[in-house]
Amino acid sequence: GEPLTVKELAGKLGREVSEVIKKLMMLGVMASINQEVDLDTATILAEEFGVKVEVLPPEEDPTEIPEIEDDPGSLLPRPPVVTIMGHVDHGKTSLLDAIRQTHVTATEAGGITQHIGAYQVNYQGKKIVFLDTPGHEAFTAMRARGAQVTDIAILVVAADDGVMPQTIEAINHAKAAKVPIIVAINKIDRPGANPDRVKQQLAEHGLIAEDWGGDTIMVPVSALKKTGLADLLEMILLVAEMQELKANPNRPAYGTIIEAQLDKGRGPVATVLVQKGTLRVGDIIIAGTAYGKVRAMVNDRGDKVKKAEPATPVEVLGLSDVPQAGDILVAVDDEKKARSIAEKRLAKKRSEELQQAQKVSLDDLFKQI
Ligand code: GDP
Ligand code: MG
Repeated sequence: GEPLTVKELAGKLGREVSEVIKKLMMLGVMASINQEVDLDTATILAEEFGVKVEVLPPEEDPTEIPEIEDDPGSLLPRPPVVTIMGHVDHGKTSLLDAIRQTHVTATEAGGITQHIGAYQVNYQGKKIVFLDTPGHEAFTAMRARGAQVTDIAILVVAADDGVMPQTIEAINHAKAAKVPIIVAINKIDRPGANPDRVKQQLAEHGLIAEDWGGDTIMVPVSALKKTGLADLLEMILLVAEMQELKANPNRPAYGTIIEAQLDKGRGPVATVLVQKGTLRVGDIIIAGTAYGKVRAMVNDRGDKVKKAEPATPVEVLGLSDVPQAGDILVAVDDEKKARSIAEKRLAKKRSEELQQAQKVSLDDLFKQI
C-alpha cells in the first residue's frame, strides 16, 4: 500500500529509471527519479511493462485481534445486562441492594454474597445481570473504550427530589448508547413523594410515561420498603424479550472488564462480563495490555466455577497485570501470540502517554511565557 518512488518502482520492475520515466511521460505523468507514484499509476505502468500487479489487503494492526463473526444460526437467547443510573442520593445503591437481598438466592453458608461488581438475579426462572457499578462514570468510561455492555438502563429518580442534573446526564448517556430506559421512581414511601411531578419533568426531557400516552416504562418503587421491585424486574424482562438478545456460546470467549484490582494474595483480579462464547479455566486470554491463562474463576456467589457462558459475570484470576474497566477480553489459542500482542499494546500505550506528557509540558511552557 505504501507509494513507491520512481527509482524504487524501476528497481521492482527490473527496468532502467530512464525507461520508467519515459513510460510515465507517455502516460501523461511527469515524474522525476525521487518522486512518489500513486498505486493506480504504478499498476498501469507495471502492466505496460507486462508485469501483473496484485494488490494486497492492508496489513493487520498487530495490537488488534480480529473479531469473530458469528453465524446467525449459532446464536442462542441470553439474559439481559442492566445498568442503574441516576442522580446522587436518589437510591441507586439502595435499589441494587434491595433487589439483591430479595431476589438473589443466597448460597448455603449464611447467604454471604461476593462483591464482584456485577451479579445475576433469578426472577421467575429467568436471569437478569446487574452491573453493580452505579454512576455514569463507569458507563461513559466503558463506552469511550468502545465497550457496549448494557442492554437496558434503569434510571432512578427520587420521587421527593425530581429530575436533577445527573438525571439529565444519565438520559443523554443512555440515548447516545441507544439503550432503552426504564424509569424507577424511587422513594415513593417519602412524605414529599410526587411521582406525577417526576413524570412531568421527565416529559420535558423526552421521556413520556406509558400512562401519559408515551412509551417509557415508569415503575414506582421504594428501595427502603422493598416495594415495586417485582414490577421492576418484570418490566426488565419484558423489555429484554423485545430486544431478542442472543449470543453464540460455542466459540472463544469475548467479554468486557467490569472492574479490576491487584489483590495482595491472588494477584490481578478482574471481573469479566462474558458476552459471547464460553470462558473456561485454562483458557489463554488477553485484556487490554494484560494477558495470561485463566487460573480460576469465581462467580457472584463466591463459588468457584470452571466455565462462564454469555451474560455471566465472573472474577478471573491469572492475568499478568491489572486491566482497565472497559477493556475487551478475548480468549486466544496461542500464549506466545497473546503475550506478543499485550507487549505491543503496552509499548503503544507508553509511547502515547509519553507524547501526551510532552504535549502537556509544552503547553505549560507556553503558559509560562
Ligand atoms: P445513590 O447515591 O443513588 O446510590 O443513593 P443511595 O442508595 O446511597 O441512597 C441515598 C439515601 O437515600 C440513603 O440514605 C438511603 O437510605 C435513602 N433511600 C434510598 N432509597 C430510599 C427509599 O426508597 N425510601 C427512602 N425513604 N429512602 C431511600
Ligand atoms: Mg451509590
